[in-house]
Amino acid sequence: MFTNYIEVDIDKIQRNIENVKKISKNKNICAVVKANAYGLGATVIAKYIENQVSYFAVANFIEAKNLRVSGITKPIMILGFVSVEEANECVAYDIEIPVYDLSYAERINKSIDGLLKVHIALDTGHSRLGFREFEFDRILKLKQLKNLKIKGAFSHFSTADEEDKTFTHEQYEKFERLRKNLSDEFKIELFHIANSAASIYHDINSDIDRIGIVMYGIYPSDYLKEREDIKLEQVFSLKSRVSFVKNINPGDSVSYGRSFIAKDRMKIATIPIGYADGYFRAFSNVGEVLINGKIVKVCGRICMDQFMVDVSNIDCEIEDEVVIYPDIYKEANKIGTIPYELMTSFDMRLTRVYIKDGEIVEVDNYLGELYEN
Ligand SMILES: *Cc1c(COP(=O)(O)O)cnc(C)c1O
Repeated sequence: MFTNYIEVDIDKIQRNIENVKKISKNKNICAVVKANAYGLGATVIAKYIENQVSYFAVANFIEAKNLRVSGITKPIMILGFVSVEEANECVAYDIEIPVYDLSYAERINKSIDGLLKVHIALDTGHSRLGFREFEFDRILKLKQLKNLKIKGAFSHFSTADEEDKTFTHEQYEKFERLRKNLSDEFKIELFHIANSAASIYHDINSDIDRIGIVMYGIYPSDYLKEREDIKLEQVFSLKSRVSFVKNINPGDSVSYGRSFIAKDRMKIATIPIGYADGYFRAFSNVGEVLINGKIVKVCGRICMDQFMVDVSNIDCEIEDEVVIYPDIYKEANKIGTIPYELMTSFDMRLTRVYIKDGEIVEVDNYLGELYEN
């Protein structure tokens, strides 16, 4: 019996990928498993979806190496910064990296031994990483860097999840111009720009769809959630158990700072998860969880490892199951964030439990592994 755990349904991830393939214009998937697969566990998930996808993407070298060492053989690309030292190791691990700055690319080229696969990052309006259109002459100089093999060119959208398609079209037009001009100069195998939102909402050519959030069954925005043309199944559920139940009297206060004072006699349950597990302190007095099929409200401040809820109107006892985010969109909105941030905040202390065909197929306990090895 697990106390604090994230249940991850592998079958649902696999079905979400197939559903995205059906609705997207593009058929090749790059599974974005950065940030430990948005908190759900990159190495296990990657293993189960490897034959459905043609690529994996992560944010940095440590994530990429971790994936490679775990046994993944499909191409792995890094989407963010890679240092010169790390670039050297990327050659050995066959990991692909972005280039977006000519002089840094020159330093990498000079330092490495062997051929490094790179993707030219293009800034079409996101202003994060990438060469801009007016720097085309600098992009051409990459030709002289003989240790870099240019395998791809890519860009990233800022507003593909919004109803208004104007800016996405502007970005895409820039990308198409760059695609044409780059194709005249280089032999580039993959041009890619689609993220989850673009894959399900825009008619866009991308040699691979770099999808993250939709694989995990979460819509990229509230707007896209309202659309019925793609069905996604949320693949995870964060669960805990009731650790204690008691009655309190009018005037009694709950938790640090006494921000909650009982008006009437109440029944209070304690849950052994807190902000150290990734259940944000911002949920103090506003969060809602599900116990025995009923929604109950947080009372008082979230502590590091525990919080309290009002169970006056429900039956519950020690050990009863608690579902922490009954509606992750609603909970995220309440505290001014998005499901992405709630998911990637799931701490190492939570056990990951993987289900396939209704059976537990794998259990990951990161802290256990740290302590035992
Ligand atoms: C994170 C990321 C993605 C995936 O975004 P989703 O909205 O989760 O699909 C794709 N491309 C880049 C460059 C990213 O940083």
